[in-house]
Amino acid sequence: MLKSYGYAAYNPLTPLRAFQFERREPGPRDVLIDILYCGVCHSDLHQARNEWNGSSFPIVPGHEIVGKVAAVGGAVSDFRPGDSVGVGCMVDACRTCPDCLDHQEQFCENAVFTYNSPDAHTGKMTYGGYSNQIVVDQDFVLRLSPALDLAATAPLLCAGITTYSPLRRWRIGAGHRVGIVGLGGLGHMGLKFAKAFGAETVLFTTSPDKTADAKRLGADDVVVSKDPQAMSRYLKRFDFILNTVAAAHDLDQYLALLKRDGVMCLVGVPEKPHPAPNIGNLIFQRRALAGSLIGGIRETQEMLDFCAERGIVSDIELIPMAGINDAYQRMLKSDVKYRFVIDMATLAPAR
Ligand code: NAP
Ligand code: ZN
Ligand code: ZN
Repeated sequence: MLKSYGYAAYNPLTPLRAFQFERREPGPRDVLIDILYCGVCHSDLHQARNEWNGSSFPIVPGHEIVGKVAAVGGAVSDFRPGDSVGVGCMVDACRTCPDCLDHQEQFCENAVFTYNSPDAHTGKMTYGGYSNQIVVDQDFVLRLSPALDLAATAPLLCAGITTYSPLRRWRIGAGHRVGIVGLGGLGHMGLKFAKAFGAETVLFTTSPDKTADAKRLGADDVVVSKDPQAMSRYLKRFDFILNTVAAAHDLDQYLALLKRDGVMCLVGVPEKPHPAPNIGNLIFQRRALAGSLIGGIRETQEMLDFCAERGIVSDIELIPMAGINDAYQRMLKSDVKYRFVIDMATLAPAR
């Protein structure tokens, strides 16, 4: 076993702190990665605090991982030591079910998530990217372009694919008007992608002070969602709304903004359920309320290649590992600009 170290939540209430643990020795199909940067997703916070009721402690969060290949197993042909690589939310899946065969491994019943997921190799839970190294099957390792800033690439591995995938699934492009709800990690990537795909894009925010940034990030207009008059200007005017909000809220105020046959896709997973929407808002305009979960490995690579081609990365605030608890506090106040990324060089070796 490999002695590894990182930061863990030991229980839902106390701050994250240093943790030592073991990872498997790389097998023939495995890639050993020295982690350089790891993005901080709101899902990390939800799970560190057991807000989804499925956390097994200690939990080492982190699923926006970038690093350099340190070693590869004998059967690995696509990666070599020194390569820049990424790991997202999944590290394995069954590979034989209809979802896997369809390149939608995120829906596989036996998908192994990057942390807090039963790990057949160790008999424990998987441990994520708030750590010095990780061992991952080659099929779940992503190739990164050396042209992009590595730290700013990390959030693409979750925030990027989670917004890219639904915008592609609903074929968003020129001629569409798209709403993005919430300007955090996911929302700011949603803005960048909707713009890159050619849509007219409107950002809905609860934070008026994010207006100028939203425009810089690609929004054609910004609406403060607490202002009913501003909201009413957009009644029945959207083809698609991507809702990234991490807290329970009224969905009807956004459903009413969809055109006939419009779709609102939820990607936020709040601790408490949203109030049930008024189904009249759906039925009378044949609107749809949908959801989406990250994206498959093939589509994640496609997204990374698209970003490399277009020079798209995340807007980040680089933090030391010891700054993670402050970052969580700021995330809870929607004070994110627009993704925290941990510089793993600041992670002190375990003593
Ligand atoms: P984040 O960076 O914290 O951003 C969330 C944004 O939501 C905030 O910045 C804020 O934007 C808005 N917001 C927060 N509280 C709100 C409230 N009470 N009412 C209205 N708006 C509020 O979070 P994130 O990392 O982007 O993640 C967002 C959600 O997506 C989380 O629930 C996360 O678990 C989930 N997620 C889902 C998937 C998936 O596959 N479906 C993948 C990754 C993450 P404004 O200041 O602009 O209002
Ligand atoms: Zn995430
Ligand atoms: Zn499967």
